[in-house]
Amino acid sequence: MACRSGARMNCKEFEHRIPEFLNQTLDYRYMEAFREHMENCDSCREELTIQFLVTEGIKHLEDDGDFDLDAELGRLLEQNNKNLRFHQFRLSSRRYMITTALILVGMALIFQFG
Ligand SMILES: [Zn+2]
Repeated sequence: MACRSGARMNCKEFEHRIPEFLNQTLDYRYMEAFREHMENCDSCREELTIQFLVTEGIKHLEDDGDFDLDAELGRLLEQNNKNLRFHQFRLSSRRYMITTALILVGMALIFQFG
């Protein structure tokens, strides 16, 4: 399987991922490309906003119907930023730990057989 890291997401793919993003079930593998595309593509950002409005609008039908869409969307993006940062931190610290473990194992082997 080809590594798609850093690959740009096209509009079709973006649209396909919007429901996952709104449900906060979007895979972290796509998150960065998704956010990048959103920031660079006006029509997709608009599409995301519309779908968000529809999704949230349905959710809030039972409420008094009085909610601040921009604030809600801002909150979702903020939450998404936090998740992404946390994930990146975890990923890098895990890599660091694996590297450290490999070095230790390597040193142990050298001492044992060297
Ligand atoms: Zn687009």
